[in-house]
Amino acid sequence: MEKIAIFPGSFDPFTVGHESIVNRAQVLFDKIYIAVGFNAQKDALFSLEDRKEFINQVFEGNPKIEVVHFEGLTIDFCKSMGAGYILRGLRTAADFEYERAIAQVNKAMYDGIETVFLLTMPEHTPVNSSIVRDIIRHGGDVSKFIPNKMKIKK
Ligand code: ADP
Repeated sequence: MEKIAIFPGSFDPFTVGHESIVNRAQVLFDKIYIAVGFNAQKDALFSLEDRKEFINQVFEGNPKIEVVHFEGLTIDFCKSMGAGYILRGLRTAADFEYERAIAQVNKAMYDGIETVFLLTMPEHTPVNSSIVRDIIRHGGDVSKFIPNKMKIKK
């Protein structure tokens, strides 16, 4: 059976940390949907369309990777896409605690799903979208923290 994974996130914006997780997960799955979602608790800097466009720049021409968006529960989206796996990245113990609860609740709601975690590469541990957003807001250079192929317009 085809191994289909959803990599859900806000990706506001996509960073080298996200890119690395997707690249490393390609050996595990036949198809990875990078699913840009809405997070009610987060104030987005980039529009949904911009966030998707940035990620498309990175994976253009790669048939295994598709950029999509979704609203609502991640497990409902997984069901609609026939995905059996949720891919997430872990940086810190704080990430683990947050992700653990979500993954366990998702599993309780839908037994057909497994969440697969990849540990971040050490050099990506401090990279997070909210710091990147702050740097952008203040006119700083984020080129070290976003994928080479990504051109941010702001
Ligand atoms: P969310 O709003 O769902 O937390 P994010 O866009 O912040 O979405 O992150 C999506 C996923 O990528 C999460 O699993 C997060 O832990 C992971 N992630 C974010 N930054 C990094 C990084 N630097 N290294 C590894 N994983 C990361």
